[in-house]
Amino acid sequence: MPRTLITGGAGFLGSHLCERFLAEGHEVVCMDNLITGNKKNIEHLLERDDFEFVLHDVSKHIELEGPLDYIMHFASPASPIDYLKIPIPTLKVGSLGTHNALGLAMSKGARLLLASTSEVYGDPQVHPQPEEYWGNVNPVGPRGCYDEAKRFAEAITMAYHRHHGVETRIVRIFNTYGPRMRLDDGRVVPAFVDQALKGRPLTVFGDGSQTRSFCYCSDLIDGIYRLLMSDEVMPTNIGTEFEYTILDFAKLIIELTGSQSEIIYKELPQDDPKTRRPDTAKARRVLGWEPQVPIKEGLRRTIEHFKNCAVT
Ligand code: UDP
Repeated sequence: MPRTLITGGAGFLGSHLCERFLAEGHEVVCMDNLITGNKKNIEHLLERDDFEFVLHDVSKHIELEGPLDYIMHFASPASPIDYLKIPIPTLKVGSLGTHNALGLAMSKGARLLLASTSEVYGDPQVHPQPEEYWGNVNPVGPRGCYDEAKRFAEAITMAYHRHHGVETRIVRIFNTYGPRMRLDDGRVVPAFVDQALKGRPLTVFGDGSQTRSFCYCSDLIDGIYRLLMSDEVMPTNIGTEFEYTILDFAKLIIELTGSQSEIIYKELPQDDPKTRRPDTAKARRVLGWEPQVPIKEGLRRTIEHFKNCAVT
């Protein structure tokens, strides 16, 4: 039975990964410091013999007994309002945390997959973004703590691969949504759905002409699993071509929730990328990956989930 460590395993994506790896027959160790993750996300797994939860901040040395085959390094705040609130832990987990995870991978002979991000492209001047694009990041702006931590994480991952021969994979994750996002995490999907369900105005930042492309969580997890099991060492984008302006996206959420909410405009955060859509030719070619969940279907499932959260 392969044994897999998932850092950030109690977070939105981490908890979906825990489920997927258990379903694939892995023994899973879920590690999280619960700063932005939530034990509720993995509560249903705690009784299983093949699942273990370890409360630990991976920015500090990671001690883990026993063999390890895979490390999925997902620990990090990922929502702009979170990483703006806690910039130093964000920088530390991306840098020191990745260093520690790579050291553990080296000592155990495990393969490590790094969760990187479309934010490494910053406010992109190439559209859509292929993996070869080096990006346009402001290192000293408020988003720099996240973007540069992830860029460093990619660099140290490649260095451990080239210099120490550690088996590594890097996924660049584009905007992903689905059940278990925190209602208050500030990202556009939970923010708009929460506002629409409560009949409050939807807060569009700027004039709403900026774009994002949205991927349902199960599609992302499938792409990540395929990438881990592939031979592809260089970064790989996973995301969809469902690109919306944020204004059109607000209208779509109003339509799908059947809400009477209106739209109001708020100031655009500094360095908010104007466009974002992945070039996924590589994921399709190398991984045989194809997103399966149409945007309206994924949003319906997410809205249902948030309706239930609001009640409990
Ligand atoms: N956004 C918005 N209203 C909100 C939350 C976000 O208009 O209440 C915009 C935000 O400015 C950005 C886009 O939606 O242009 C996506 O933001 P999110 O925080 O989800 O993630 P990002 O892609 O910026 O990392």
